[in-house]
Amino acid sequence: MNKDIKDITIKGLNVWYGPVHAVKGIDLNVPAGSITTILGANGAGKSSTLKAIAGGLNYTGTIMIGDESINDLPVYKRVRNGVVLCPEGRGIFYQMTVKENLLAGAYTTKNTNLDLVFDIFPFIKDRLNQIAGTLSGGEQQMLAIARALMANPKYLMLDEPSLGLAPIIIQKIVEVIKQINESLKITVILVEQNTSVALSIAHYAYVFENGKVALSGKASELVGNPIIQEKYLGGVRK
Ligand code: ATP
Repeated sequence: MNKDIKDITIKGLNVWYGPVHAVKGIDLNVPAGSITTILGANGAGKSSTLKAIAGGLNYTGTIMIGDESINDLPVYKRVRNGVVLCPEGRGIFYQMTVKENLLAGAYTTKNTNLDLVFDIFPFIKDRLNQIAGTLSGGEQQMLAIARALMANPKYLMLDEPSLGLAPIIIQKIVEVIKQINESLKITVILVEQNTSVALSIAHYAYVFENGKVALSGKASELVGNPIIQEKYLGGVRK
């Protein structure tokens, strides 16, 4: 795998949905090789930011890989540059087999990373002909990540991979994310509402509130931040 990874840098990102100003001038830096997490309540603008990086919606501002803007690149060219989104809700094809889902992930890049996927998700090898919709929730999430890996990412964006999963399954997903980052040297942008899970594996964290960056820093330092403790780690998350 080509590993000439660079920082992803975002300057002055704005996203509107008609009159709704969802992302309001966000600056963000994702250091090469890091796990960088974006935290925040529902509607804070996390998914919109990932979609903008993937090229899936209109935005203003600049998104750069290293020193080069990718603003003019359509989604498929961003994928070829290694920018891959694993969307919220998994986005797998429920009526198709596991194998068909995996091959759909490789469509843009024509890669066949099946062996790599089997290394990380051994269960998949025995399930290739199973209809994806009949997998358990945790398996479906793993298939979604596996499918994203088929596109040979350098920068993998995961939108709420822990959503709706039991703690023991979340732990497995966490291990997989670490492995993807450490062994495969893939930079990970992790959007999560599960703040404690995200801060436990991330190197850097951003907290979004109402379309803006409210806090940012090293994850290890934000864990001890009183605002984080009170708003995101203490009581019920809003
Ligand atoms: P969630 O975890 O709920 O997805 P989020 O932090 O990812 O939250 P976004 O999904 O980016 O937030 O949404 C940011 C804002 O944009 C919200 O106010 C949301 O209602 C609005 N929004 C998102 N998608 C659309 C859309 N397709 N049309 C109109 N408004 C939208």
